[in-house]
Amino acid sequence: MRMIRTRSEMERLSKTIKAAGKTIGFVPTMGFLHEGHMSLVRAARQENDVCVVSIFVNPTQFGPSEDFDSYPRDFQKDKKMLAEEKVDVVFCPTVKEMYPNVTLSQTPPDIIPPKNLTACLCGAFRPTHFQGVAQVVDIFFHRVKPDRAYFGQKDFQQTVIIKWLARKAHLNIDIRVLPTIRESDGLAMSSRNVYLKPKERKRVIILFQALQLAKELYENGERNPQRIERKISNLISQNFLTSRNQEMKLQYAEIRDAETLQSIHEIKHPAVVAVAAIIGKTRLIDNIVLG
Ligand code: AMP
Repeated sequence: MRMIRTRSEMERLSKTIKAAGKTIGFVPTMGFLHEGHMSLVRAARQENDVCVVSIFVNPTQFGPSEDFDSYPRDFQKDKKMLAEEKVDVVFCPTVKEMYPNVTLSQTPPDIIPPKNLTACLCGAFRPTHFQGVAQVVDIFFHRVKPDRAYFGQKDFQQTVIIKWLARKAHLNIDIRVLPTIRESDGLAMSSRNVYLKPKERKRVIILFQALQLAKELYENGERNPQRIERKISNLISQNFLTSRNQEMKLQYAEIRDAETLQSIHEIKHPAVVAVAAIIGKTRLIDNIVLG
């Protein structure tokens, strides 16, 4: 497994691989890997000649009061997991290497995703987040030059924005979105789950249960998104109110068009049911697609 720390070395290697007529599958991550990440890695390995995984905790996608400094990191364990999966290349640049002189405010305007994709759902609570995501993924895409790039459905809004970016930059990259990997009780795996205290860990399962309720209502014929939103919001909020931990807060429980992320009045096309909540110090998100 080859470790690469500079943008220029990554770019040189990608050019050599492409010149040899081989395909590259790319999995961008912020490390502290779990089975969700590894499902993407396995797909990238199977579907391409060369598998590149990046590990980079990207400062520009964290807000000023968010958890960039405390974000969980375990580089040695990540390296071991990737070596066991026979990953070919790990690209792990430093912040200085990725952004020699550039700050978020200097993002090239042509890769700033449109407001209709970034101002809703998570973007309403993390106003600069998706601009930071687009900025870092754009740099990666140009250096790694993948044929296919792998993302988890868990970060649904991110996948819509990455597809926009790939189209906009004419990168000709197949954006592959794979299902959310869950713990045995349904909680979506996330690096941030380590923040959860045992009592919080038990409670957060309500998010998955709310999504299951949405699915059940839809399967029983309900097509009015507002009625489903009300029912799942009530379920989550009631659970949070009955908790003694007062630091639980539902940020949103919304149904939107799965392609455009716009609000809808009737579920006719695939629609995403997305939820976000804060429990103690942990912000959790989850979603399912209906239709
Ligand atoms: P992160 O390290 O959190 O930035 O995630 C890197 C990639 O892994 C993103 O495409 C995520 O959507 C994906 N991912 C994170 N959690 C999961 C999960 N539970 N199941 C599938 N993919 C995931």
